Amino acid sequence: MAASGGIYNSVINARKIGAKSFAVFLKSPRRWVSKDYTQEEIDKFGILCEKHGYNPRTDILPHGQYFINLANPESEKEEKSYKSFVDDLKRCEQLGIGLYNFHPGSSLDSDHGEALKRLGKNINRGIKETKFVKIVIENMAGHGNLIGSKLEDIGKVIEMVEDKERIGVCIDTCHTYSAGYDIEDESKFGEFLKKFEEVIGMNYLSSVHLNDSKAPFNSNRDLHQKLGHGYLGLEIFRVICNLEKFEGIPIILETPIEKGEDDLRYGEEIELLNWLIGKKKEDEEYVKKKEELSLKGKKEREEQMKKYLVRQEKEEKKRKKEEGGNTKKRGIRENGEDILSQLSKKKKTTTTRKEKEEKKED
Ligand SMILES: [Zn+2]
Repeated sequence: MAASGGIYNSVINARKIGAKSFAVFLKSPRRWVSKDYTQEEIDKFGILCEKHGYNPRTDILPHGQYFINLANPESEKEEKSYKSFVDDLKRCEQLGIGLYNFHPGSSLDSDHGEALKRLGKNINRGIKETKFVKIVIENMAGHGNLIGSKLEDIGKVIEMVEDKERIGVCIDTCHTYSAGYDIEDESKFGEFLKKFEEVIGMNYLSSVHLNDSKAPFNSNRDLHQKLGHGYLGLEIFRVICNLEKFEGIPIILETPIEKGEDDLRYGEEIELLNWLIGKKKEDEEYVKKKEELSLKGKKEREEQMKKYLVRQEKEEKKRKKEEGGNTKKRGIRENGEDILSQLSKKKKTTTTRKEKEEKKED
């Protein structure tokens, strides 16, 4: 929720649209350093939470700044990220907030395993410097050297965390789908949750980001779309709304806000989600709604598909050229290496190739 004018305004905005839980930035999402909260702000936040029935320990999930990269191989930059990260954690605790969500960062062409270790180390440091806030790692859409596009990354980092009570995971439906985990319907989502249980453990699931995907399955693009308008479609959201497993954890909307809209428009999607509770897959009204929303997103889906195919073709050409010219120098490339894995503009390293081999074995 928007928090302009003071962090406490997020509480008022969330109440306006009938949200049971909400996300907020603790400081400017674009600047490294922000002013400390005043005692007055902190008090006002607490009073408003109480007045409007939000428990800050469980109902509010602040989002870390996108540029925080605790896995950065350059130690100066790693330290700069850590400072902002731990400052966020302390802000949470000042406000009595119990959960903090962030993106796990990128190995930036460095050794992936070492990058995971840096991330694990910095999470442990952050936990030691604070008292109660739970650090929630979000899964990613899978572009380039990003950490957390594979559930295995998250599983490995959690293994390194000393205080397991203070670590959790946020599933983002858009990221999951574009990273190559199909979750379109109940049975596919069930398969994904089974995998989640095996690799991470359901007990770590601490929140869900609900987003449809503008880009096609396995495209590795992080393009959020309004519910039901994208390639995922409405069905998965009906399934999630009716899952007992997800009761009691914050479920957050991060769907796009179009020109001329503000985040009060989330009220409509909250209404839609409430409407989906108890709806059966074959319910006539539901089927109608699903088609209606899908139609609204048709044009954008087609546009994205075109872009996706063009990119795929380009990457394939590039791959063939590389294979023809550089076989000696680079070694023989693995057969059938996923074209999509070539989407990354970043220079390829042996590490990223190794990751892909692992992916194939999965
Ligand atoms: Zn998200």
